[in-house]
Amino acid sequence: MKKDISSGTAKTLHPRNQHNSRYDFDFLISVYPELEAYTTTTPFGDTSIDFANPDAVRTLNKSLLKAYYAIDYWELPKTNLCPPIPGRADYIHYIADILAESNSGKIPTGNTVRILDIGTGASCIYPIIGHQEYGWSFIGTEVDKPAKNTAETIVLKNPSLKNEISVRLQTNKRQVFKNIIGQSEQFDFTICNPPFHDSREAATKGTERKLKNLGKTNAGKPVLNFGGQNNELWCEGGERAFITNMIYESVHFQSQCLWFSTLVSKNENLKALYSVLKKVKAVTVKTVVMEQGNKVSRILVWSFQDENRQKNWSNDRFSGSKQR
Ligand code: SAH
Repeated sequence: MKKDISSGTAKTLHPRNQHNSRYDFDFLISVYPELEAYTTTTPFGDTSIDFANPDAVRTLNKSLLKAYYAIDYWELPKTNLCPPIPGRADYIHYIADILAESNSGKIPTGNTVRILDIGTGASCIYPIIGHQEYGWSFIGTEVDKPAKNTAETIVLKNPSLKNEISVRLQTNKRQVFKNIIGQSEQFDFTICNPPFHDSREAATKGTERKLKNLGKTNAGKPVLNFGGQNNELWCEGGERAFITNMIYESVHFQSQCLWFSTLVSKNENLKALYSVLKKVKAVTVKTVVMEQGNKVSRILVWSFQDENRQKNWSNDRFSGSKQR
């Protein structure tokens, strides 16, 4: 098993990430005037928003999606996870780099490049960014029916996303690829931001901690907030169990998917996951460390194809696609 740990540019976003500099609020307000009502002035005199206010975060996201990704409609129920856009974009840019590696250094673009997003959420955030940045087509999966419906509405209401993204319902929450990937279907990458807490209580505590770090406490009140519906954030056994299961299932689809990947939020889970990957005889394993300010997360990537077969796959599938 070839193991390779690479690090993102220290403490900054990926070089192609459009959110590499501070938010330009004047620009964002010019594109999306509703944002103005949520802006505040920091003690240093800078314009900002109150990141503990879910409506403010949602409105900021709408302005970012409109300004940088030409998305006009992005509505989701207040209880759903409202994803930070810059970090989500980073995952997309790093997988573009990995696809380029076996494709003579060029990023394959266009909708013949097919990506599977496990647990796409109501926000449909990875397919939106991936399609708007690189033209890739996406299949998202969801166990939560209302979330799937919301994601589908977002896709249908944005002409540029229609026909490029679809969402499939996973009817068994213990399954990942099974019942989703068709018999002769191929994917160039599978991606996932897994439910990472191991219980509802831990998910609630995590959200409380987040609010506390933002200087807000929510004592005595039920925590229903920008962190998302708590059942979006947990599964029995936490991310370790979820990803372990994903790795075992990936064995059955090893010749249909070039790369499998997932975010890993807890560093201490990596060791156990590497040993599962070794056990199933993954051929290539990469860990991409992403640092954004004080937050560190990792993308764990694996393939059952060696370098030669990765090149052949790219020749077969990307030679007709646009490259950049
Ligand atoms: N991708 C979104 C949402 C991540 S939250 C984002 O990054 O913001 C994790 C999502 O996975 C939730 O929406 C949850 O409903 C979904 N989920 C949990 N188990 C799943 C499974 N087995 N298959 C598909 N989706 C699942």
